[in-house]
Amino acid sequence: MSLKLFNSLTREKEEFKPLEEGKVKFYSCGQTIYDDLHVGNARAYIFWDTLRRYLEFKGHNVRHVQNITDVGHLTDDGDQGEDKVEKRANKLGIEPMELVEDQIERYFEDTKAVNVERQDIVPRATGHIHEMIEYVKKIIENGYGYEIDGNVYFDVEKFAEDYPYGEMANKDLEQLKEEAQARVEHDDRKRNQYDFALWINADESHLMKWSSPWSEGYPGWHLECSVMSQKYLGDEFDIHAGGKDHIFPHHPNERAQCFAATGKGQANYWLHNEFITVEGEKMSKSKGNFYTVRNLIEEGYSGDAIRMYVISSHYRSETDFSKDGLEQAEKELSAIRSTVQKIRKSDGNDLDLNESPEDIRDGFESYMDNDLHTARAKQFLMEKVRLLSSALSGGDSVKDEYADVLVELFGVLGVNMESDVSKTESEMADTLVELRERFRENEDWETSDYIRDRLSELGFEIEDREDGAVWYR
Ligand code: AMP
Ligand code: ZN
Repeated sequence: MSLKLFNSLTREKEEFKPLEEGKVKFYSCGQTIYDDLHVGNARAYIFWDTLRRYLEFKGHNVRHVQNITDVGHLTDDGDQGEDKVEKRANKLGIEPMELVEDQIERYFEDTKAVNVERQDIVPRATGHIHEMIEYVKKIIENGYGYEIDGNVYFDVEKFAEDYPYGEMANKDLEQLKEEAQARVEHDDRKRNQYDFALWINADESHLMKWSSPWSEGYPGWHLECSVMSQKYLGDEFDIHAGGKDHIFPHHPNERAQCFAATGKGQANYWLHNEFITVEGEKMSKSKGNFYTVRNLIEEGYSGDAIRMYVISSHYRSETDFSKDGLEQAEKELSAIRSTVQKIRKSDGNDLDLNESPEDIRDGFESYMDNDLHTARAKQFLMEKVRLLSSALSGGDSVKDEYADVLVELFGVLGVNMESDVSKTESEMADTLVELRERFRENEDWETSDYIRDRLSELGFEIEDREDGAVWYR
């Protein structure tokens, strides 16, 4: 079975073929580190993590690089406005790097909470200023960049004579030119308003700046991803991913810089996730309509439930955030986990389910092969959980392989289905269940009910089956 992915470059689902058989080189645009992760950001990282897990499930060896932006991302996402990191650091009265240190730690805690595995390489922009300066020199040497007043700009018109530009956004040059003209703040130093900054001359008040052949300054936002992706994955690699907002200008500009410096256009497959919205509006820090992962966890939602909620929709469909959705995800989680535990305890083989665990694996794969359709894959698995659960309630015993396949496939979606009960807790629960059985044999209903109720308060439910009582959490 072959994986198809929707490529924003061609706007088609294409069969995925890595440049080198069995090896996938994958770059995704990461977080600008100035505030906590919200569910919208988490959606992006959850999907790229799911894609990596799925590629590995299909036998590929994946190198995943996801950057951290700690300089150069301005508040208007273009060449104007304040640096997002500096702005927040100023507000808090601390050094930008103090803020970054603190936020990076929180970022790793939050992504870990939703089971996003740390990527193989997590390069930081400030650690690659030297490479960025060398890269800008190459772009100028090749005739696609020009310097004015210590700023260096990318010459879009010149570039477009030699390479494609704007095809990801499905816009021609004229259209892009008009749109840039219509923007409020003009920069008269640019040859054309759609030119963008590669290097920016820092003013006096700017804290994060480095010396360069052009000025004491800092890199334009798009530069870091061109430089770091090619440094760690080579001039050409397989997949480049990011949020929908990167379809223009971030990704076309990254790609243009790569062509301009190396003659190679970075990745073959460009993937973009849709937004999580709140009452129809994009969840974002600037709008203030966001829910951070950290706050949701403090409110009592589990990281697994946030993950489950996010993968319950396809990454290319817009999803409106709701806490009801999270509650639903919590319910599904406990239904699946208890089914898994019941299967492990039933440990038999008299269930006559039409599908073998292998069939379930194939079914899952057919949904995921369709542009990583996690929503349908999850629905498919939930049907199996319902079937297995009703078989168990009907007294059937089910072989362990069904529990194994559920744990494995939900694991590919990044949701942990193994019970979080420790060995000691498990043995204590076993002992209490045995004790309860003895009280029941002696018809001491009061004590046996007391044990059941206390266990229930601790999250352990007892089910009385023909072959004896079992507990599950
Ligand atoms: P930012 O912190 O704005 O640089 O965003 C980091 C990543 O999260 C980018 O890939 C964005 O495209 C993505 N992102 C931001 N907001 C949302 C949202 N509401 N829904 C989905 N992805 C988002
Ligand atoms: Zn990027």
